[in-house]
Amino acid sequence: MAYDVGDQDTAAGLDFRSDTRTMPDAEMRAAMAEARVGDDVYGDDPTSSALEQEGALLLGTEAALFVPTSTMANLLAVLAASGPDSARPRVITGAHSHMAFLEDAGLRQFAGADLLPLAQQPDGLPDISRLTEALTALPSGGPRQPTVVCVENTSMMHGGSALEASAVGEVADQARRHGAHVHLDGARLANAAVALDVPPAELARPADSVTFSVSKGLGAPAGALLGGSSTFVARARELRERLGGTLHQAGVLAAPALVALRRLPELAADHTTAALLADQLADVPGAEVSWPPHPTNIVMVRCSGLPAAQFAERLADRGVRVLPLPDGRVRFVVHRAHDADSARSAARAVAAMIGSTAVAQPGRHP
Ligand SMILES: *Cc1c(COP(=O)(O)O)cnc(C)c1O
Repeated sequence: MAYDVGDQDTAAGLDFRSDTRTMPDAEMRAAMAEARVGDDVYGDDPTSSALEQEGALLLGTEAALFVPTSTMANLLAVLAASGPDSARPRVITGAHSHMAFLEDAGLRQFAGADLLPLAQQPDGLPDISRLTEALTALPSGGPRQPTVVCVENTSMMHGGSALEASAVGEVADQARRHGAHVHLDGARLANAAVALDVPPAELARPADSVTFSVSKGLGAPAGALLGGSSTFVARARELRERLGGTLHQAGVLAAPALVALRRLPELAADHTTAALLADQLADVPGAEVSWPPHPTNIVMVRCSGLPAAQFAERLADRGVRVLPLPDGRVRFVVHRAHDADSARSAARAVAAMIGSTAVAQPGRHP
């Protein structure tokens, strides 16, 4: 039986805005069509249960919960870590993390969180001395205020840098010495695991809870897993229902997510393509590439004299879509719709765009 998988990337040219723009392919659509379903509100959706069991195995946690988005997984982690009486928590997270700059309003509104953004090192790891300062400062919510320390792996704003388990472990040990819950926002933990050639469970081990997206580079249409202890996940399951995040025939979405979990090794191809794109862009006069210590599928470029929004707009005119960032760089996220030719075409488009734009060209950096 054939499934119409729709236009992947053709109509819009090359779309590097995000790996969320991966489309479910024929295998995933077939899995959706054939998914055994029940009603997850009644706890009898077999495909969701299978996904949660496989997810827990992959993440090395006692249990896992299937949730609609990573944003909800992160919110549930903070809520569940705040205890049964849902005391207002303080959330300590990297100033450039997704939780600090894109989820802060939700965390404040729905978890009543006090957000403490921390300076980050070039690889994206929270600065440990700043972390210690934040942990030892008297919490505004009183001495018993619950504290959640969050680490993002890969670190998106730091060029998609993959963090090693040992480095995250040091942050986690320090956080736990002060009684904090450690949450890992691993929306792209699959990329980190593949780049570092370790199982995701090893990278999740230092944390008390972990978010893992199936709908970024892994290509499922929607969803994320929240892993943690059985008690923690049971609490998160109740909270998910209160938030309205429990889906009835969830198996239709869990089935392609199960396909996604088997595709981790395929991310290596995205990393190879991203490395080629970074190399090609580095050869473009006027383009300045950011080089994270452990790169994955993200490439960030700055072009001095050309604001990010204009960079993105002019490149879109040449059929290549990228995301402008608030710090003046633009972001390319490589995913399964791209190959070596896409990387070369994108770099050529950047070269042509810069060549035809009157910008101050600082020349190659030594
Ligand atoms: C994409 C992303 C999220 C949010 O994921 P959604 O599924 O879009 O809600 C959270 N954290 C990080 C690091 C992300 O990259």
